[in-house]
Amino acid sequence: MNDLSRATEIANATIWLGSGRWMRGASVVFVDGVIMSVGAPARDLAVGRRIDAHGATVLPSFGEGHAHPQHAGLREQFAPVATAKSVREVLTNLGTYAALHPEQQWIQGWGYDPAIAPGGRFDARWIDEVIADRPVLLRAADYHTVWCNTRALELGGVNDVDGQPSDGEIVRRDDGTPMGTLREWGATRYVLDIAPPATLAQRTQALTWATQQFLEGGITWIQDAWVEQDEFAAYLALANGGLKARFNLGLRADPNQYLDQVHQFRDLRAQVDSLGDPFLTARTVKIFADGVLEAGTAAVLEPYHDCPHSCGLSNWTPGQLTDAVRRFDSVGFQVHIHAIGDRAIRMALDAIELTSRSNPAWDRRPTIAHSQLIDPTDLDRFYQLGVIANFEPLWAQLDPLQTELTIPRIGQVRGNRQYPIASLLERNTTISFGSDWPVSDFHPLAGIAVAITRQNVDGEPQAGWQPHERITLDQAITAYCSGVAFQGFTERYRGSIAPGKAADLVLLDTDLLAIEPLEIARSKVMKTFLAGEEVYAR
Ligand SMILES: [Zn+2]
Repeated sequence: MNDLSRATEIANATIWLGSGRWMRGASVVFVDGVIMSVGAPARDLAVGRRIDAHGATVLPSFGEGHAHPQHAGLREQFAPVATAKSVREVLTNLGTYAALHPEQQWIQGWGYDPAIAPGGRFDARWIDEVIADRPVLLRAADYHTVWCNTRALELGGVNDVDGQPSDGEIVRRDDGTPMGTLREWGATRYVLDIAPPATLAQRTQALTWATQQFLEGGITWIQDAWVEQDEFAAYLALANGGLKARFNLGLRADPNQYLDQVHQFRDLRAQVDSLGDPFLTARTVKIFADGVLEAGTAAVLEPYHDCPHSCGLSNWTPGQLTDAVRRFDSVGFQVHIHAIGDRAIRMALDAIELTSRSNPAWDRRPTIAHSQLIDPTDLDRFYQLGVIANFEPLWAQLDPLQTELTIPRIGQVRGNRQYPIASLLERNTTISFGSDWPVSDFHPLAGIAVAITRQNVDGEPQAGWQPHERITLDQAITAYCSGVAFQGFTERYRGSIAPGKAADLVLLDTDLLAIEPLEIARSKVMKTFLAGEEVYAR
């Protein structure tokens, strides 16, 4: 029997229990990290702590189905370029930062907006005007694109490259010289590989900072969707006490090394398992099938409008991708495939289908992340193959990234096919939500508002962008809570509110059933509980 003096009750709440079930004026009681009861107010229970919700909503704490916490944290430590609204502002911020940091041999900045220069083409010479003596490396918010100055191009040997790499694009001026914008690994690696890597101390600081942000947003479970050796080391350093949220690691498969990685990743997973940290798992392999539509690097079935010879880049051949999925699957890894263009999504579905036919049956839960442009003939295949569709709902709005870059590249017809969330739900597909933070804001309440309305914060367009793809409040919460819990193999103890489940809970400042959809984005998380412990209070 639990000692009730250790119990907490959140009373007078509007509680979402899971799959469409709500209770009003209800209580949830938890003790020793586990939910004990949900339902009528526990008036006669002598609980140690009682919190009055005043009618506000209690949800399971959110899951984050796809994010890059260390990228987000490191971005804070570099030159501030992410908030700049123009090239001029980026350059001003760079100049100020460089003057403040004469000791840094490289100036880095992460997360600049690729929509602030025409066609996403950024010139090295613009940076040279403010910093020419030291190499400058800027990463776009999509993390698939780099903008650097002439010094960095020289040090990276980009000027000596003839033509184009097979798996990347060196954007060139009319005279053929590299302009300063590099797209995808094949091109960005020239500079990324020579820039000084972040230290372990910088990384653990970044991870700790990012975790605190998640907790403030009500998130306690995170899929890290891009883990290399350096990211892995930071998790290991913080394990068993230093991790303040639950993480599952997505180890990134490399098309040039995946045969060796099958064994390496098994070792890394065994290392994590042997730690016995209940907050850390490494059961997933991340695969980038393609790039992004706004840069013209997503793999599409029909050519881009602005570049009639290009169907984008796929990082793997179909045969290679199938082989990799098969091999990782055969040793019990879940695959988490970044696939944005309709050709990449079809390749991913094909690889999963062939794998499920040839490998022994198991509860594999393959996930396709972003699922941005799906050919209509492929919609049924998600459910048929048991594929989880991960979306970043904040992207499903008509913002400048869409109107300035993406839709001009793919045209109106394909443009209007993006993010078919409701179409997949109608087909019984499991949907999970995430943010791809720091690519975009991670706050689930903002994502829920967009998923319901398909409008931006100003309520535009009035009918919603592709209104038939809007989903209900309940479906949106399900995607963030139960959907991500299922993706992470954690639904046994998280993702809904019921006796016996972990007390991973979030208390809001509003009753979600009583407010307009756009107001949801302005609602606040008041408290976040992780296994019963209050890890955030506003
Ligand atoms: Zn990502």
